[in-house]
Amino acid sequence: MAEEKTGLRSSTEVLTRGFDPRLSVGSARPAVFRSSTYVFSSPERAERAFDLLAGRAKPEPGEQSDLVYSRFNHPNAEILESQIVPLEKGAQAALVFNSGMAAITTALFTFLRPGDTVLYTVPIYGGTQSLIEGFLDSWGVSGIAVQAGDTAAIEDAIRTTENLRVILIETPANPTLTMTDIRSAATAGSRRKGEPPLVMVDNTLLGPTFQHPHDLGADLILYSATKYLSGFSDLIGGVVLAKDPELIRKMRLKRNLFGNILQPDECWILASRLPTVGLRMNRASKNAQRIAERLASHPKVRKMYYPSLFDDAGQIRIRLEQCDFPGAMFSVELHGGKPAAFDFLRKLRLAYNAVSLGGVETLVCHPKTTTHSGFTEAQSAEVGVTDGLVRVSIGIEDWRDLLADFEQALAG
Ligand SMILES: *Cc1c(COP(=O)(O)O)cnc(C)c1O
Repeated sequence: MAEEKTGLRSSTEVLTRGFDPRLSVGSARPAVFRSSTYVFSSPERAERAFDLLAGRAKPEPGEQSDLVYSRFNHPNAEILESQIVPLEKGAQAALVFNSGMAAITTALFTFLRPGDTVLYTVPIYGGTQSLIEGFLDSWGVSGIAVQAGDTAAIEDAIRTTENLRVILIETPANPTLTMTDIRSAATAGSRRKGEPPLVMVDNTLLGPTFQHPHDLGADLILYSATKYLSGFSDLIGGVVLAKDPELIRKMRLKRNLFGNILQPDECWILASRLPTVGLRMNRASKNAQRIAERLASHPKVRKMYYPSLFDDAGQIRIRLEQCDFPGAMFSVELHGGKPAAFDFLRKLRLAYNAVSLGGVETLVCHPKTTTHSGFTEAQSAEVGVTDGLVRVSIGIEDWRDLLADFEQALAG
């Protein structure tokens, strides 16, 4: 790794940290190091590297451990982890994983023990929900779901839940973009007696550009890098960031065991996307705001879900306190239920009918029959996943072409 330059702003640091061209034969871009194993400079260095890896020894100040084996670490992961830290305000260390679910699973397995409870907001990403409700329960971990955005109920649950070890917040919630107050949850956690629960935030939808959970008291920030961070719908990856490097050190030991580090090629691709994540998200958010605000008054639209169009006072307050810009996702409920929604999807010419989000291209899906098809009727009704609801992830196309596409798909 290169010596770190400090005191620079994040858009500069992301381009200057973590990479030393001298270690890549002078190449202006890092090489891809696909090697599975690394040659030690001496048997003593090998012994030391294994002591550090296993956590038997702690590194001396400034000590760089030798590379060992690519399930533990490799240069492209180190470069990427170094470059992503300045993008997340307040973060001190990062780890990269081979999917968002790998990042979330490793975070929960590192910090939860049998008998512990994890409190989580719903709706939450389907994989996360299945992990907590359909898997961790069999390991003796209880999950307690709290309604996203219900600040008073969440504070109350944090105050009264026994053996609370982790608070996992996904905000805004998918697909209705309901926002949960991170600061109030973190404050409620810190007021409990004994060791405070860890506050984890899945920041995939608005971070790292528009929402900064470390400033609001979060301990760990989780990402599906598959979405905005990579931005082109062409790789699967995950990231965890922390204010406290000790949390990352603990998670690294588990990543070594689970073998779910991001592979060198994917690290290289993702590192090359980081300098433009702010540009892409700003453009997509501007596009989405223009389109959502216009479509909101379309006669075929029953309800538009978009942060700049919130009408609930609590939601407006959280958005203003917590988010710089409204982001590039909206959901729109059409008059006419499922036939109207499917008709709309069939008629789109520019926007693709696909799940996932956060790419430079616009993607549209029908949550009730796809991403949220595992919900019971009651769950769907509770969070507003109706037959007529369509979720949209706006890209960086010209917004006028997208608006025209949506309008022609709504016509007739
Ligand atoms: C996509 C997504 C995940 C899962 O990420 P993968 O990279 O698909 O494993 C987790 N959380 C949110 C909010 C997501 O959108």
